[in-house]
Amino acid sequence: MMIRKYDAIVIGAGQAGPSLAARLAGADKSVAIIERHLFGGTCVNTGCTPTKTLIASARIAYDARRAHSYGIELPAAGVAVNMRAVQARKKRVVDAAKTGLENWIRGTQNCTVYKGHARFESARSVSVDGQVLTAEQIFINVGGRPRIPAFPGIDRVAFLTSTSLLELEALPAHLVIVGGSYVGLEFAQMYRRFGSNVTVIEKAPRLLSHEDPEVAAAIQSALEAEDIQIRLEAECIELAQDGNSVTANVQCSVGPPQVTGSHVLIAVGRVPNTDDLGLEKAGVQKDHAGFIKVDDELRTSVPGIWALGDCNGKGAFTHTAYNDYEIVAANLFDGNLRRRLSDRIPCYALFVDPPLGRVGLTERDALAQGHAIRIGNRPMTKVARAVEKGETRGLLKVVVDARSKLILGASILGVGADEAIHSIIDVMAAGVPYTTLQNTVHIHPTVSELIPTVLGELGPTTGMSV
Ligand SMILES: Cc1cc2nc3c(=O)[nH]c(=O)nc-3n(C[C@H](O)[C@H](O)[C@H](O)COP(=O)(O)OP(=O)(O)OC[C@H]3O[C@@H](n4cnc5c(N)ncnc54)[C@H](O)[C@@H]3O)c2cc1C
Repeated sequence: MMIRKYDAIVIGAGQAGPSLAARLAGADKSVAIIERHLFGGTCVNTGCTPTKTLIASARIAYDARRAHSYGIELPAAGVAVNMRAVQARKKRVVDAAKTGLENWIRGTQNCTVYKGHARFESARSVSVDGQVLTAEQIFINVGGRPRIPAFPGIDRVAFLTSTSLLELEALPAHLVIVGGSYVGLEFAQMYRRFGSNVTVIEKAPRLLSHEDPEVAAAIQSALEAEDIQIRLEAECIELAQDGNSVTANVQCSVGPPQVTGSHVLIAVGRVPNTDDLGLEKAGVQKDHAGFIKVDDELRTSVPGIWALGDCNGKGAFTHTAYNDYEIVAANLFDGNLRRRLSDRIPCYALFVDPPLGRVGLTERDALAQGHAIRIGNRPMTKVARAVEKGETRGLLKVVVDARSKLILGASILGVGADEAIHSIIDVMAAGVPYTTLQNTVHIHPTVSELIPTVLGELGPTTGMSV
């Protein structure tokens, strides 16, 4: 076997790997980056980019159907969704992002690209495509894939995952989605807007069990208003194929015991790609769920090996994977100021319509952690911009620590919420009291302009330390 020596090896060209490879190469290190499938990984090819592109098409269909309520008349023939054209648009956006990334990394000086599956041979060597590469520093950025649960009958059913559904050119007559969380709900609304009947099956008593109950309830009612069927408390999910249809046997507290659809999407979480990486040969430790164990600076149990992105279980988003790159790069190259995982404020969005922007603790988590808190609330019906746009579903909710006056978290569900949440993220990152934001002038008319108002109307203190 041929052995090639590098200063650094990066495994995976997802959301952290390419930027890190370029940074290392820019510091005059010889770098090998190994990708077994598609440049850009999940986000670009089967995650954020394709879903948000499809969601944009679905939104146009939705707007067209309700154009008359804005005084806009469309031809009586109604709205037709051309799924081939929708998919072609998505493909153009994805291909541009993937190709741009691949060209950039292939054109980076000091950086050699290997296509193939990487496996550790030791703590300092990795095999790929019949060759062995060695380096003193190895960075793992292998991401994850959809989890396939052991439901009875699943092996006899032609089920879809979030990856294969993205390739479907036909419109499902009835899409049954197992899993009422982030990925499942985005697909649910998207396909309903394209024209499919959609049923979401969730085993918990409510959707989105990580969110505060009133936030999850508002999302559920927005989905139900679009005639998406939601089946909660679905115990003992069992699948069966019957010709061209798939039946899910569910024992829900309410509703019939079976749901039959033309297609079934399994969206019950993701698992890390760490089972086929030869980690045991390097001595790199994983936790019980297969995530690579890392410390506050993303170092694994083996000196000289780091793990970044979804495979370390410290985040499940593109921005967390990219921030992992920033942390590792800063600590390697930027002098004494250490950057740490524990400095990261958790934030994300759920891109249903209206979107949910989230940062920090929910009310429930803040109380569970023993904070004395004050809550600020406002329905979107009292946000002028939402009224003007005719999109008044949702709410603003901010959780403040009663003693320190620091913002602990916020949920903004409503039009523009995925953008509006950032003023709260920034104030939390600055570590200043909520009064700074309360006293800041925001632009009228926006959703963000009501955040200072909400902070000026905080409720009484509640919580264990009252
Ligand atoms: C449907 C869906 C929608 C999403 N939407 C959003 C969103 O809107 N916003 C958001 O922030 N996040 C979203 N995510 C999550 C986001 O895509 C991931 O968190 C992000 O891509 C993680 O980046 P990563 O670099 O850790 O891994 P990945 O992007 O998965 O990249 C890992 C790469 O490693 C390669 N690889 C794996 N094993 C090996 C090996 N042994 N050898 C060589 N190469 C290997 C893989 O082929 C892959 O290219 C979504 C995910 C899904 C599934």
